[in-house]
Formats: sequence, structure tokens, C-alpha cells
Amino acid sequence: MIRFEDVGKVYPDGTTAVDGLSFDVREGELVTLVGPSGCGKTTTMMMVNRLVEPTSGRVLVGGEDIAGADPVRLRRGIGYVIQQGGLFPHRTVLDNAATVPVLAGWKRAKARARAAELLDLVGLDPGTYGHRYPAQLSGGQRQRVGVARALAADPPVLLMDEPFGAVDPVVRERLQSEFLALQATVRKTVLFVTHDLEEAVRMGDRIAVYGEGRVEQYDTPAAVLGAP
Ligand code: ADP
Ligand code: ADP
Repeated sequence: MIRFEDVGKVYPDGTTAVDGLSFDVREGELVTLVGPSGCGKTTTMMMVNRLVEPTSGRVLVGGEDIAGADPVRLRRGIGYVIQQGGLFPHRTVLDNAATVPVLAGWKRAKARARAAELLDLVGLDPGTYGHRYPAQLSGGQRQRVGVARALAADPPVLLMDEPFGAVDPVVRERLQSEFLALQATVRKTVLFVTHDLEEAVRMGDRIAVYGEGRVEQYDTPAAVLGAP
């Protein structure tokens, strides 16, 4: 579903963020990208929705080389979840969750009905929370809204950049298990960035272990843990 073929990214200031990146993610698979800060995980992720363009190699999504894809159309099929939810502070929870379907041209009522469904799915009662603003939510609740928003237009691919990084460990564990249960039903193709090996092991069907600018190991959690 997602394929990196010998991908490199050198930023305009000369920084090599990734080099010789090659791996693929199967449909319905959740792959965690783990490694220390600055090793190229976010760059890898942003090359999938073309917020960053590779300087060498190819990135394919659904078999298509995305270098030629219309970015707007491409992003319609790719949900994006970032730390702290990345919510619009002046929009209600319901309107935040409805953002993507509205952008995709759905009628407002249909988009809102869908958003309410998704809020329910991530454990937020739309009647209780739909009219609140992000500042009136806990950190964990904001992350749930971020997940609901990313899933509202039902994209086949989900990019999650440290989605549970800004909440305390107890809430994080709950968000992790909730998301795993959700993923078991929605079966998205997911790239999940974390710097926490424990989280990578818990969440990933496979794990890409990053060293500086490259993937040093790409395997199942059991194999990564069993490695010498
Ligand atoms: P990670 O997500 O693993 O923390 P990043 O992909 O954010 O890593 O960054 C990889 C490297 O690229 C780092 O050295 C970082 O400083 C650099 N980098 C990231 N974004 C830019 C940018 N816009 N311009 C220049 N260098 C960047
Ligand atoms: P969660 O697991 O949902 O993140 P928390 O332990 O962070 O839960 O918060 C517990 C409860 O406290 C939540 O149901 C939420 O409604 C409320 N709460 C937390 N932070 C705030 C806040 N800043 N404003 C209003 N309510 C809050």
C-alpha cells in the first residue's frame, strides 16, 4: 500500500534527513517508526502526503508513484494525526471532527452526522462533547478528537506522528488499547511515529527501527525484541 524505493531527502540547508530508505507497508498493516529524535521519522511520514518532497528515489501509495499525484486528491485518502490533536481552537469538537468531510465537499449535515459517529467511535459522546471547544477537553480527549477527525472521511491510509506523546502514561495506555481495538475493525494502513520502543512494540504489526537517517531493522516486534 505504501512503498519507499531508495528514498532520500536532503533539505535545502544541506541536512540529510533520510538516505537510502526502502521498505513497504501492506494494506491494513500498522507499522511503527521508532528511533531517537532527529533520525528522520517525521520526514519519512511527510513524504507520504507530500508535505515533504523526496530528493531521490520514489514513494508509491496504492501502487502509484505519488510524485505525479495531485496533492489535494492524494491527501483526501490519507488521514493525519499529530501530537496534541492539532485541532482548530476556535471550532467546536464536532466541527473539528467534520473538517475533512467538509473539505471533501460533503454536505454540512452529512459531514456533521459522520463526525458525530466518529466521535462516538473514539469514546466521546457527541451530545456531551460535540459543542465544546478543544481548550475545554483533557489532553486524552483532544487526541481522540484528532483520531476522529483523521478517520471521518474514511481514508485508507493513516499517518500518526507521536499521536499519544503529549498525555500522561495512564491515559496513553488507554489511548493505545482503544486505538488497537479501533484498528482491528477499521483496518487502515497506518504509519505510526514514536520515540518510545515500548509503544512501538505494543502498537506495531511491524517496526521500522531508525538509526540516523535510515532504517536499521524492519521486522515484527518479536524479531526486533529477540535481536541480539
Ligand atoms: P524525527 O522525526 O526522527 O525527529 P525529522 O524527520 O524531524 O526526525 O528530522 C530529520 C533531520 O532533518 C533532523 O536532523 C532535522 O533537524 C532535519 N530537518 C527536519 N526538517 C527540516 C527542515 N525543514 N529543514 C532542514 N532540516 C530539517
Ligand atoms: P482522559 O483520559 O479523557 O484524558 P483525563 O484524566 O485527562 O481524561 O481527564 C478526566 C476528566 O477531566 C475528563 O473527563 C475531562 O472532562 C475533565 N478535564 C480534564 N481536563 C480538563 C480541562 N482542561 N477542562 C475541562 N475538563 C477537563
